[in-house]
Amino acid sequence: MAVLKDDDLPFDAKMLDRLAEVSIRVGLNLQPGQDLLITAPVESLPLVRRLAAEAYRNGAEVVTTMLSDDEVSLARFRHASDESLDRSANWVFEGMAEAFDNNTARLAVSGSNPLLLSGQDPVRVARAGKSMSIAAKPAMERITNFTTNWNIVSYPGLAWAKQVFPDKEDDAAVAALAEAIFSISRVDNDDPIAAWGLHQETLTKRQKWLNEKCFHALHYKAPGTDLTIGLADGHEWKGGSSTSKNGIDCTPNIPTEEVFTTPHFQRVDGIVRATKPLVHQGTLISGIEVIFEKGEIVEAKADEGEEVFLQLIDTDEGARRLGEVALVPHSSPISSSGLLFYNTLYDENASCHIALGQCYSKCFKGDIGKDPEAVIKAGGNSSNIHVDWMIGSGELDIDGVTKEGEKTPVMRKGEWAY
Ligand code: ZN
Ligand code: ZN
Repeated sequence: MAVLKDDDLPFDAKMLDRLAEVSIRVGLNLQPGQDLLITAPVESLPLVRRLAAEAYRNGAEVVTTMLSDDEVSLARFRHASDESLDRSANWVFEGMAEAFDNNTARLAVSGSNPLLLSGQDPVRVARAGKSMSIAAKPAMERITNFTTNWNIVSYPGLAWAKQVFPDKEDDAAVAALAEAIFSISRVDNDDPIAAWGLHQETLTKRQKWLNEKCFHALHYKAPGTDLTIGLADGHEWKGGSSTSKNGIDCTPNIPTEEVFTTPHFQRVDGIVRATKPLVHQGTLISGIEVIFEKGEIVEAKADEGEEVFLQLIDTDEGARRLGEVALVPHSSPISSSGLLFYNTLYDENASCHIALGQCYSKCFKGDIGKDPEAVIKAGGNSSNIHVDWMIGSGELDIDGVTKEGEKTPVMRKGEWAY
């Protein structure tokens, strides 16, 4: 049952005030006069109400909220016809795209059941997933192209909490997940805005080093992994805050620990084994192992959820190629928590990861990112999907490789080497 009143919350409601403040002021850096679109699970209303209030205090003009509910989502899979799964509500995403083109900021609250669809027919799940990603493209494109300032932040929903802490009672599980979210999101201190400022400095230092090195490729070596990832021509490393096309310095992910850039979609070769499970559209996929040749996945398997994974990489041509490469030290707060969150926003920030599908056009130097054809020419991948999965561990070594083949240690045993 959804918890909607502050008095019923099994954690300190003051933390939600701080989370809302960080989300609006650091995450979005919402500007006076902007409109804001919030999507959120209905269970997260105590946070959504605070986000709206904080947005208006910071000068927002029109805040629109779109709430979702797990039971409503499940109803479709239980009762809708197979054929109907090939369609999605395109008009919603077209409306979002129009809003983003007109300076509306985008805020997503995550917190619903990560394994909601695990008991459903994988073919139906994939079918709906495909039509959804096609329908969502106009909105998704604006996010990957960074048309507007956006942010994603989490709320400790009950089903999610029970997934992370299966042995705890309901309230205790929510309280434990809340504590993890608040600590990892750096709001469990008196001045979270300052804490984020310090964190940003560290991320900036790492990006600067990688951008100066301007590696041609990265070579990954770990048990089950021997992979070379070519980096796109003119790639630029990003991390933490960056400037959206409407000119706002925002920090899209809360939490965030990664520095990331665009790989070359034709220059990825070797074998790679996932180090953590991936939750995709409500299904757990674990033990992923794939072989890349000339940028493309030529062999793929998984211990669990293999069917969903194979469907995923068949979504379109770009779904078999990489669109992101990200570095996260093994000692990150999320990794140190030892928890598996079943939520990409958290799990990807625990570990070095790669993403299949669409690249981020903001990860290019100069004007390359402004021209879709220049992005492709530089080696940026395009696809309707963008799915991150974790390949980092305490046993991972990464070398930066120059065009001439000269190697520089980037990470040793999962930690920064310089
Ligand atoms: Zn990432
Ligand atoms: Zn990603």
